[in-house]
Amino acid sequence: MQECGVCNGWAPSERTCPKCEGVMRDQGRVTDFLDDYSPYLDQKYTDLVDGDFDSSLNEECVHLFICEDCGLNDIQAT
Ligand SMILES: [Zn+2]
Ligand SMILES: [Zn+2]
Repeated sequence: MQECGVCNGWAPSERTCPKCEGVMRDQGRVTDFLDDYSPYLDQKYTDLVDGDFDSSLNEECVHLFICEDCGLNDIQAT
């Protein structure tokens, strides 16, 4: 696996929400998150894991970001 900047601390763990311009915080790796929290996530993420995106999830470190203000969630491959 390639080195992940977010996990290793040299990449930003926050990003700007495209919807409300609030702060989206890193919630950790999607692959870890899905086990415990998949019922709360948008269906598209579980679809991604079951679909073609599966190989990317395993090869890359994909992080889940959730906006503190509006609750928007998004994933970002590092
Ligand atoms: Zn990572
Ligand atoms: Zn937001």
